[in-house]
Amino acid sequence: MTDTSPERIEIRCKALFDGKAILDDARVVVEGAHIISVEPNCGPPTKRPAADDRVGTFLMPGLVDSHVHVCGYHEGLPAGQPFEPVKHFLRLCIANGVTTLRDTGNALETIFYAREWAERYDGPRVFSAGPLLDVPPLTWAFSRIVRDSVDARREVGRLADEGVDLIKAYRRIAPEQLAAIIEAARERDLPVAVDSQLTPVRDSSRLGARSLEHMANIVDPDTTSNDNGDASNGPAGRSLRWSHVEPGSDAVRSLGETLVEHGTFVVPTLLVSRRWTFFDELVGDPHLGLMAAVMPYHRHLTTLSNPMGAMIGKRFVRKYMPIAELSRPDRRKAARGLELMGEVMCAYHAAGVKFAAGTDSPNPSLAPGFSLHQELAEMVRRGLTPLNVLSAATSAAGALLRRSDLGVIKPGALADLLVIDGRPDRTIEELGRIQAVMKNGRWVDHEAALAKVAEAAADL
Ligand SMILES: [Zn+2]
Repeated sequence: MTDTSPERIEIRCKALFDGKAILDDARVVVEGAHIISVEPNCGPPTKRPAADDRVGTFLMPGLVDSHVHVCGYHEGLPAGQPFEPVKHFLRLCIANGVTTLRDTGNALETIFYAREWAERYDGPRVFSAGPLLDVPPLTWAFSRIVRDSVDARREVGRLADEGVDLIKAYRRIAPEQLAAIIEAARERDLPVAVDSQLTPVRDSSRLGARSLEHMANIVDPDTTSNDNGDASNGPAGRSLRWSHVEPGSDAVRSLGETLVEHGTFVVPTLLVSRRWTFFDELVGDPHLGLMAAVMPYHRHLTTLSNPMGAMIGKRFVRKYMPIAELSRPDRRKAARGLELMGEVMCAYHAAGVKFAAGTDSPNPSLAPGFSLHQELAEMVRRGLTPLNVLSAATSAAGALLRRSDLGVIKPGALADLLVIDGRPDRTIEELGRIQAVMKNGRWVDHEAALAKVAEAAADL
C-alpha cells in the first residue's frame, strides 16, 4: 500500500513571530500548502527530522510589500523580451523573503504574466489594482479614464471582470469621482486604494477608501499652519510642505481620529519620499547594480560616486529625472518635514491607525525586496518598534488585502514562511539574515533567485 497523504514538514524555532506576537520554542507543522498546527513551548524533537524539516532561530510569515508596481524595461528592440525585467523583479522579492505583493497600478497584461510566472516558478503572490483610474491629462499610459459616475461604474465593472483585486483611484480623482468609484467598487466587493492630489484625505477616509497610499499625502489643508509657502509640486515639494505640519495640533489629531473611525489603512512609503528628496541618498543605495536588471538606467546612477561621473550624471539626472535641486536651507527644511512625517506616523499608530508597509518599488533606487527591508528599518528609525513594523509587513498587510490566511502563522493559514538567523523582533536589520524561504508549503531557492538577477545585471 502506498502512502498518499500530503508531505508533512516540521519547523522548529527558538522564537516564532505569528504576525502579531512572539511565541517561544515553537513547532510548526505544514501539510500541503497550509499550516496545520502551531505549538509553543515544545521540548526536543521526538523523531528524526525528515529531509525537508528545518530548525532555526526565528520563524515568521513571508513578507508582504503593500505598494509596488511589478514592472521594468529591457534595453533593446521594443518587441524583445518585454517581461524579462518582471521576472527579475519577482526574483529579487523572493531573494529577500517577500512572498506577497500588492501591486497598486499596472498594465493588466503585466499582472497576468507576473501571476502566471510566479505560480510556475515560485515567485511571490501578486494582488493587483491593474490600471489606475484617473482624469486626463493622465500621468501613466496604463490608466483608465473616469470623469463621472457612468465612467466609474463601467471601468470598475470591467476591471472586476478582468480579475483585479483592488481599485486604485489616482492623482486627479476629485471627491465626486471618488464617491462614484467607491460606490461602484462596493457593488463588486473591491477595496479602493487612494493616491489623489485633489481629494482631501479626510474625504477619502469618510467616503470609505480602504487605504491611503503614501504618508506624504496625509496632509490636509487644515493640518498645515502655512500652506502657501513652498507647496511646489513633486515629492520634494511635499517633504517641504510637511515642515509646516504641527504634529500636536487639533487638526492633525482629528484627522487621525477620522482614519481610526473609518478603519482606513495607511501605507506610508517613507523611503520613496526620502529618495526623491535627497539625491545623495538615492545614488548611495547599495543595490543600484542589481536594480539595473529591472530598470537599466540605474547603471548610470552607479557612476555618480566619483567626481567626473557626478558631472556627467548630473546632466543625465537633470534631463531625465524630476529631482529638485534643493538649496541648503530647503534641504534642512525638507529633512525636518520628513522627521515630522515620521512623528505623525508614530502618533497615528499609537492612536490606532492601521499601517501596512510598502515601498513603491521600482521607483529610483528602490530595488524590489531589498527596499522593503530598508523601509522597515526607516519606520523603526522614525520611532515604531521592530515588532510594530514586522506586523505592518505581515499580518496588517494580510488584513489590508482582506486575507485572514496571509501574513500570519496559525492553523489554516497559507504556509508562506521565513527562517531567519537572527532576532529581527529586537534588531530589524537582522531581518536580512534569511536562511530559508517557503511559499505555499514549499521551500524555494532564494539564493538561486538572487544569483540569476546578479548574472543578468553583470551582463548589462
Ligand atoms: Zn506607487
